[in-house]
Amino acid sequence: MELNSVKEMAVGAETDMAVDVDVDVLVVGAGPTGLALGADLARRGVDALVVERADGLFPGSRGKGIQPRTMEVFDDLGVLDAIRAAGGDYPVGMIWQDGRRVGEHQMFDPAEPTDDSPYNAPWMVPQWRTQEILFARLTDLGGRVAFGREMVALAQDEDGVTVEFASGAPVHARYVVAADGGRSAVRRALGIAMTGETVDPGPMLVADVRITGLDRDNWHVFPPSEDTGGGFLAICPLAGTEDFQVVAQFPDGTDVDLSPDGIRKTVAARSHLSPEAVTEVRWASDFRPRTALADRFRAGRVFLAGDAAHIHSPAGGQGLNTSVQDAYNLGWKLGTVLRGAAPGSLLDTYEEERLPVAADMLGLSTRVHRGELRRGGATRQLGLGYRDSSLAVETRTDLPDGALRAGDRAPDGNVEGVRLFDVFRGPHWTLLTVGTDAEPPVLPGVRTARIGSYERYGTGVFLVRPDGYVGWAGTDARDLPAYAARAGLAVG
Ligand SMILES: Cc1cc2nc3c(=O)[nH]c(=O)nc-3n(C[C@H](O)[C@H](O)[C@H](O)COP(=O)(O)OP(=O)(O)OC[C@H]3O[C@@H](n4cnc5c(N)ncnc54)[C@H](O)[C@@H]3O)c2cc1C
Repeated sequence: MELNSVKEMAVGAETDMAVDVDVDVLVVGAGPTGLALGADLARRGVDALVVERADGLFPGSRGKGIQPRTMEVFDDLGVLDAIRAAGGDYPVGMIWQDGRRVGEHQMFDPAEPTDDSPYNAPWMVPQWRTQEILFARLTDLGGRVAFGREMVALAQDEDGVTVEFASGAPVHARYVVAADGGRSAVRRALGIAMTGETVDPGPMLVADVRITGLDRDNWHVFPPSEDTGGGFLAICPLAGTEDFQVVAQFPDGTDVDLSPDGIRKTVAARSHLSPEAVTEVRWASDFRPRTALADRFRAGRVFLAGDAAHIHSPAGGQGLNTSVQDAYNLGWKLGTVLRGAAPGSLLDTYEEERLPVAADMLGLSTRVHRGELRRGGATRQLGLGYRDSSLAVETRTDLPDGALRAGDRAPDGNVEGVRLFDVFRGPHWTLLTVGTDAEPPVLPGVRTARIGSYERYGTGVFLVRPDGYVGWAGTDARDLPAYAARAGLAVG
């Protein structure tokens, strides 16, 4: 689907929609965070509305790297097939000098899929296409997005939050999620500060172009030289499209020329290509790599998620991924509390779990940006977890080093004809008994599965959260009911 038709689809379907005045959850911003959350809430039957300032979906490719952990999240959200069909593997980097290819550069440490991590390499999908897929899923599930709705003010009371827009009637919601990006108006309205620093003072250009004279088998890298003031140029073929993403770095103080002619000049000045090789500029933007973390991810009934809560350098491809995983952490908790199944304190675990993950991610992407760390194990995000969370209860003792524990991501596996991700997929909790005769209690709404011993899990009883992390683990299920009640599971 071409960019224009995406926009038309979005505008045509939703701009004139009559917006409810009362909803349970109002999500501000229809970027990857807001759309992933909107889809997750929709499948949980939550009365939610996503509002977006723009008249359509974001048209640029910027966050194009989908990490293996996000592929697992997308599997659970029901968009994996569409994401796979829309994207491709990252090409090998090709270094150019004076019009000659001088060497290949592997962008990522290689990693093959395994039984427990079936999506082990980053997958490239332009961000606009990922958003289009999430938007389609959200609407299929009955969720709603209202475009042309810019949030300008909010006020909280005991029961909820009233949000005002530049145009249109205010909306009252029991909870609001700020998914409105790095310059978040919601965060500012709440007075939540961001603490951070500039990663690189020089501005960067990012643009989607059509270009002739370059193959689509390589990510073409033109290293910095004195002529370019020390800035590099990288031109990456965007999987699933005919476009290339151009990224160029400029010296501090440069006013980046985003016009088509300005982009042509930049490409010609730093490569062997002529200005005419850039036949079309489809989208262009500039940014200064910064790293910053919101001091809090929650103020009363309002939560910050995605770039509204943390911004980092794009190096290492963490931003969209961390943002989608924020949404995934928050969705089931909002759904549970709104059902009345758990106390509101369950929502405190959102900041408790996600703020440390985001803080670590800022350090990681800054180190990748500065060339101190390769894109490898950590950037794939499969090792992220919540062992220190109050929602992680490990009752077994004397576990060996490396054992799967409460708080860890629940790995996939194929054991005795059972694929674990098939069992976990959906909005439910799962009670998994591995290699033991323990008889777990009946927990209504919780799916159960029993498998023989599986090395990746060891033995025990594992209560797997709706977002795919082990919440509780034990040798038998004696203490499980107390945990289940706290997490919002009815105990039968
Ligand atoms: C060059 C570049 C490359 C990148 N590469 C990667 C990558 O490979 N992998 C990766 O994971 N990440 C990458 N990122 C980061 C990624 O693009 C962001 O982290 C991601 O877009 C964050 O999603 P979000 O939904 O939180 O915010 P956004 O995408 O910024 O979406 C916020 C939405 O809120 C809307 N909005 C704003 N204000 C209001 C308001 N007042 N009222 C209503 N709506 C509002 C905006 O219009 C927008 O649609 C890259 C970023 C850049 C710049």
